[in-house]
Amino acid sequence: MFVYADNAATTAVSPKVVEAMLPYFTEVYGNPSSLYSVGQKAKEVLEESRERIAKLLGASPREIYFTSGGSEADNQAIISAARLGARKGKKHIVSTKFEHHAVLHTLRELEKEGFEITLLDVHENGVIEASQVADAIREDTALVTIMYANNEIGTVQPIAEIGAICKEKGVIFHTDAVQAVSHIHINVKEQNIDMLSISAHKFHGPKGVGVLYARGGIILTNIINGGAQERGKRAGTENLAGIVGMTVALEEAVTHMDENNAKLAKLQDRLIEGLSKIPYSELNGDRENRVKSNVNFCFEGVEGESLLLLLDDKGVAVSSGSACTSGSLDPSHVLLAIGRPHEVAHGSLRVSLGEDATEEQVDYIVKSVAEVIEYLRSFSPFWGDLVSGKRQHIFAEHTVA
Ligand SMILES: *Cc1c(COP(=O)(O)O)cnc(C)c1O
Repeated sequence: MFVYADNAATTAVSPKVVEAMLPYFTEVYGNPSSLYSVGQKAKEVLEESRERIAKLLGASPREIYFTSGGSEADNQAIISAARLGARKGKKHIVSTKFEHHAVLHTLRELEKEGFEITLLDVHENGVIEASQVADAIREDTALVTIMYANNEIGTVQPIAEIGAICKEKGVIFHTDAVQAVSHIHINVKEQNIDMLSISAHKFHGPKGVGVLYARGGIILTNIINGGAQERGKRAGTENLAGIVGMTVALEEAVTHMDENNAKLAKLQDRLIEGLSKIPYSELNGDRENRVKSNVNFCFEGVEGESLLLLLDDKGVAVSSGSACTSGSLDPSHVLLAIGRPHEVAHGSLRVSLGEDATEEQVDYIVKSVAEVIEYLRSFSPFWGDLVSGKRQHIFAEHTVA
């Protein structure tokens, strides 16, 4: 059996999306900036896509900027808000310890320029409270940037509440909604979101295309300089096929969201119940308050990297930590942020189900994980120390899911 269960890393492009994209490679291939008709047709489709995406997010078309993906949108949002703040002498930014690296590393660069960054602690359940944000905002705060759903543990933050606080205090609020937009209904106006990032390849669209929504009145700083595309804020010939694919993919995701979530919730329950039976394991992140596709566990006495390679041998594609950090031996900053000690943060497993997953696949994942863990523990010196009592267990033998 082959089970792809790493949809938080990327997703397969849906056939409907591929079909919608094809004419923009071979027929309507004009440059939207060209004045002849094949260029103007491309321009029309570009603007129609902008309108359709704006509608899905509750924004207006002029507030939608196409980017090369989530990372670029995060970079541009944060840098823009920082520049706007600096002009008024505001050089303080509030974020959290468990953001995606596209956010954390951008903040680190701004820190070198003299910005002061407050990274909020995350509770053990993987959620921050809106009151933490309220308490952290100062007179000189230029930006609050907090992810909507975490990419490793799937936990969902109180975004509308945070949005209301930022609005009241007059601080720009950005959210990285890359993992949320296909699982949670988003309306930027109702939720008081000033800036938001999404990426097509996380919801069955193509890689290399995303959106930065920026509320009217927020002046963006260019990250890529050149031509006057995207109202002068993002140079480069538009990735029209990608934009069309993203538009169709987002419409599909939003239209089928409720039925997908209902289906995924059942599979999530089954998966959590199955993995909880493995001794000395624990779910990471809140049991309820998480996107329905995500299950993330820590296991004592196993090493995440070995776990995922052996699972790959069984045809199960999952991840340990995040795709960006696997390859390094550092434990996940997300698991450390929710208070997992180093020794179990290394033994983590993220399963992110697709909408087409089945009960049989979930059962196969559970069976495979249980087998691999038993095998890995059988020759782990660390596990040996736990069994002999030289080391204390961190988790109870069994937790009730
Ligand atoms: C994948 C991801 C990104 C990066 O998006 P790309 O389009 O791959 O650059 C940013 N933030 C989160 C939360 C993600 O999951």
